[in-house]
This record gives sequence, C-alpha cells and structure tokens, in this order.
Amino acid sequence: MPRVLVIEDEVGIATAVQRGLIAEGFAVDIADNGVDGLWRVSELDYDAVVLDLMLPQLSGYEVLRRMRAAKVWAPVLMLTAKDGEYDVADALDLGADDYLTKPFSFVVLMARLRAMMRRAQRERPVVLIAGDLELDPARRRCGRGGVEIVLTAREFAVLHYLMRCRDEVVSRSEIVAHVWDENFDGDPNIVDVYVGRLRRKIDAPFDRVAIETVRGMGYRLHGTGG
Ligand code: CA
Repeated sequence: MPRVLVIEDEVGIATAVQRGLIAEGFAVDIADNGVDGLWRVSELDYDAVVLDLMLPQLSGYEVLRRMRAAKVWAPVLMLTAKDGEYDVADALDLGADDYLTKPFSFVVLMARLRAMMRRAQRERPVVLIAGDLELDPARRRCGRGGVEIVLTAREFAVLHYLMRCRDEVVSRSEIVAHVWDENFDGDPNIVDVYVGRLRRKIDAPFDRVAIETVRGMGYRLHGTGG
C-alpha cells in the first residue's frame, strides 16, 4: 500500500485529502506543522509527500530545502496559494516534483500524485557498479567497498556520466554537454577540476585509480573500479 504524508495545517483540506486518499487505497499520515512534517519525512519512508507552502513553525519551502539537503528524495507535490509570498519556480528549484495551486479539485490532486509516483518509480534506475564502486542515482548515494562517499551534486553528475560510459573514453566536451546545462559556455577544462575532486574522494582514500586520464582525448572510468 503506497504511503503518503500530507503536511498541511488547514484541517479541512488535510482531512479531505486524507479521506480521499484512503478511499483510493493509500495509507495516509498528516502533519499539521513544518517541524513535525520534516521529522516524519526524515524518519519514515513515504512514496509521496503533499506539502503546503504556508505552514506554522517551518514553511513548506524550508521543509523541502532541508529534506533535499538531508538526501530525502520522496517525490513532493507542493500546494501553493495564488497570492503566496513564495514563487512556484522557487519550489521547483528546490526540488519539488510538481505543484498545485489552491483551490484544487481532489480529482486533479489524485491524477498529479499518481503521475508523480509513476515517474518516481520509472526514474528509479538501477545501481551502477564498477568493481566495488557503487552509485545509486535514485538515492543519490555513492560508496566504495561499503564505505559511503559524500559527493556534491555536480561531482555526482560527473561520476554518474562516467559510470554510465564505463570502459569508454569520454571527452571533456561530452561530459560538459551531459552534466552542465545547455547555456554553459565556459571552459571545458572545468571537467578537470571535478575529476580531480572525484579522485580525491573515490580513488585516493582507497588507493585505487578508477578514473584514467587518456591524454589528448578525455577520461575513462574502469569497469573494474580501478
Ligand atoms: Ca497552510
């Protein structure tokens, strides 16, 4: 049974959504303030979160920011008011998966939730493995030999691309094209900086060489983990 957390302080909306979701076969928890909501979502494993923006104690905006900072990746549907002080774009930037402006119909909420959960499942890719080096894109986790390695979002993206192309040589501009956005017109040598950082995290401490520099061409990540 999919489990949904509704973080909403307006009792009428929260209970209506809860009733509706239960009727659709979901298990539903309610948190009526941001602090409780953040605690629940950090402690329990939810399939989706319905998150109101305007909340007591901690705004929905802040709940989302702290969730993602804590690497909690449950898909989030934001509820916003038309005249809210926060911008919808901010919510999406912070990692909300979708949003709905109040007042909304339950039918639309349900459709958005289902679509969001389907996407989250489809996008949950397999764990990439090179020897004892592992990268789990769904959980944004990286580890070697069971030791967790903390990477920044950009480092993660560079390593993700290298691992997808493992045992192939990939050029700096190819990596830039996949990892930086299309408006990036800086120096492709930025890749060297990130590869340097990655090596200090995934190779040096383990006395390994997973990422090889192929002179004049680019980089290759060894499928054996180096
Ligand atoms: Ca509210």
